[in-house]
Amino acid sequence: MGVKKLKKHARELPSEERAPVARPASARPTDPRRDADRMNVQDLAVRPLPRETMMGRANKFQVIFGDGILEDIRDHGLSSPEAEVCGVLVGNIYRDNSGPYCYVHANIRGEAARGRNAQVTFTSETWTLIHQAMDTRYPDHKIVGWYHTHPGFGIFLSEMDLFIQENFFNEPWQVAFVDDPKDGDRGVFIWQNGLAVRRQHLVDADPSKTDNRTIASLDPISAAARIRTIQRKLDVQKKKFRWFLLFAIVWHLALIAGLIWTDKVPVAKIRSVIPAEWNTRIDAWIARAKGQ
Ligand SMILES: [Zn+2]
Repeated sequence: MGVKKLKKHARELPSEERAPVARPASARPTDPRRDADRMNVQDLAVRPLPRETMMGRANKFQVIFGDGILEDIRDHGLSSPEAEVCGVLVGNIYRDNSGPYCYVHANIRGEAARGRNAQVTFTSETWTLIHQAMDTRYPDHKIVGWYHTHPGFGIFLSEMDLFIQENFFNEPWQVAFVDDPKDGDRGVFIWQNGLAVRRQHLVDADPSKTDNRTIASLDPISAAARIRTIQRKLDVQKKKFRWFLLFAIVWHLALIAGLIWTDKVPVAKIRSVIPAEWNTRIDAWIARAKGQ
């Protein structure tokens, strides 16, 4: 977003959030060995991804969101347009020929911050609910990171965000995701040399890879899923309409031709009001049609 807009928001924000938005990394370096690109991949399960998903992979450690996850996070943010909301990212770390990757399989919604422009925190009650959800719904998955929203002030990690990242999500493979539901921007941060660095992420468009039904039954159906359903119905309607139109045109042409051929319409009356050269041309066509 533009500098003007940034300045406008900066005035409204609490001091902790008044950080340069373009800052790519955390200000405080932590343990430099905390690095997603340099983690031990020996123990990771090998799971190749479809070629379409991996197109555009530019990173060794790649973050991939399952179908509908980003839309659900955006919906969660839009449900609280002023105060930040947070949650955790659920998934697993796998590897393929290009290296390790983090596959985000689902998200668990946390609670909203209290008050306008207040920053999110993970309270002990939030953690209790998250751990309950992990045990019952995702026993084979890990908490691979967390997400929160910055309504209208862009993608970066504030001092408070970095504190959360360092204290609760400090495994080299754990990521932080920030979504701006007002401006539409979003970005993921990964550990690199002990710093939280913004990285490009990918979206897996293959629905068979994600557990959308589970998510939909527990949380509101994502906007993207709703749009896809409407789109499918529209496509069917469009196809039906095209066939109907074609049938109607052919039927009317046959009817008009039949009426003229059997002299049911007063052709002489019509021909008396149209230009003379048209009549000449029509006579020629009729003569040709009758094979004279
Ligand atoms: Zn933040």
